[in-house]
Amino acid sequence: MAAGTLGSVRKTTVWMADGRELMYFGAVPEHPADYPDRRPLDPLHVESQARRDQLLGEWVVIAGHRQDRTFEPDTSHCPLCPSTAGHLTEIPAPDYEVVVFENRFPTLGSRDAGHARDAGHADDGDGLLVGRPAGGRCEVVCFSPRHDASFADLTPDQAATVMAAWVDRSAELARISGVEQVYCFENRGAEIGVTLSHPHGQIYAYPYVTPRTDRMLASCASYRNRTGRNLFDDLLDAEHANSSRIVLQGRHWTAFVPYAARWPYEVHLYPRRRVPDLAALAAAARTEFCELYLDLLRRFDALFGSPVPYISGWHQAPVRHGRDEFALHLELFTIRRAPGKLKYLAGSESGMGAFANDVVPEAAAERLRELG
Ligand SMILES: [Zn+2]
Repeated sequence: MAAGTLGSVRKTTVWMADGRELMYFGAVPEHPADYPDRRPLDPLHVESQARRDQLLGEWVVIAGHRQDRTFEPDTSHCPLCPSTAGHLTEIPAPDYEVVVFENRFPTLGSRDAGHARDAGHADDGDGLLVGRPAGGRCEVVCFSPRHDASFADLTPDQAATVMAAWVDRSAELARISGVEQVYCFENRGAEIGVTLSHPHGQIYAYPYVTPRTDRMLASCASYRNRTGRNLFDDLLDAEHANSSRIVLQGRHWTAFVPYAARWPYEVHLYPRRRVPDLAALAAAARTEFCELYLDLLRRFDALFGSPVPYISGWHQAPVRHGRDEFALHLELFTIRRAPGKLKYLAGSESGMGAFANDVVPEAAAERLRELG
C-alpha cells in the first residue's frame, strides 16, 4: 500500500488479486489495507494490437479479448459498487469516495507500454501492413459509491475529488514510457453503449497521439505560420466577441456551443488562460470548473425532461509535443436531438466523416442558457 496527498485529497494505492493497481481518492476508507481483494481472479488475458491505416494515417486498435466483458449486470452484481460480505466487487472496501483502477478488459492492452514498443513491428515486408502491440493503459474512474447517482448529482466537493483524480492520473500516466497522450472521458447512457450504469468514467493512456489531436495541432501550426498567432486563443476571442453561442461564463472558464457544432447539443468548456493539460490548471480554475461543469450537466439533463445520453471528454496536449500550442478543454455533447430521438452516425458521418447537424448552434446555446 502507498499513500500520498494531492492538495487536500488523500490518495492510497493498493493492488487487486490479479495484480492490477487500485487507488482510493479521499479519506474513505480510512484503512484501505484492511480490505484486501479476496476474489479468486484468473490472470489477465490481454493482447491488443495497434494496426496502421495507411490511407488515413491513423492507428486502429484491435482488441479481441474484450468480446467476453461484463455486459449490463443487474444492480446486485454491479462490479463498481463497494463490496459487501455477500458480493465482492472490483472495489474491496465497503465504502469509498472516488476510486480509480486498471480496467480488467482494457482496449489498450499492455501493462507496460515501454515493453510493448520494444516488442517490435510486424509487417508484410513491403512495410504497408504495419502492426505492433498496443501499449498504454486503460483505467476506470468511479465517481461515487452510489449506484443510481450520476456525475450531475455530485456536490462541488465530490467533483473536486474527481478532478484531483483526473489530475493525478493524467500526470502519472504521462510518465509511463511509450505513452503519448492521456484522455479522461465519460460515456453516459445505454444509448451510447455503456455496459455498466454505475456512475463512472474512463482514462485512456494512448501509445500514440490521437487523430483528432493530430489534426488540431496541424491546424494550429498552419495558422501560426500564416498569422503568428495561436488558433485556440483567437477562436475563443471570436466566441467572446460574438457571444451568441456562449452558454456560461465564470471568472476562469467559458462554455460555448462551437460555431460548427457537429452534435445536436454540444458545448466546449475552455479556461480563459490557455494551459496544455489538467496538471497545469491553477487551483482557482479547478474549483470553478467543478461548479460550472455541474451546472452544465444539469442543464443537459433538463433539455428533454429525462437524463440524456452524453459523451464528455478532456482534450489534453500530447505528452511530448504540441504543448506550446494546444489548449486544454472539455467537449461535452449529447446524441439526443429530441425526446425519444437520437442522432445516429449514419452514411455521411460514418462513411465519409462528413457531419450534418439539424440543430442550429445559436438556438442550442439559447436553449441551454434558458434552462439555468
Ligand atoms: Zn454499482
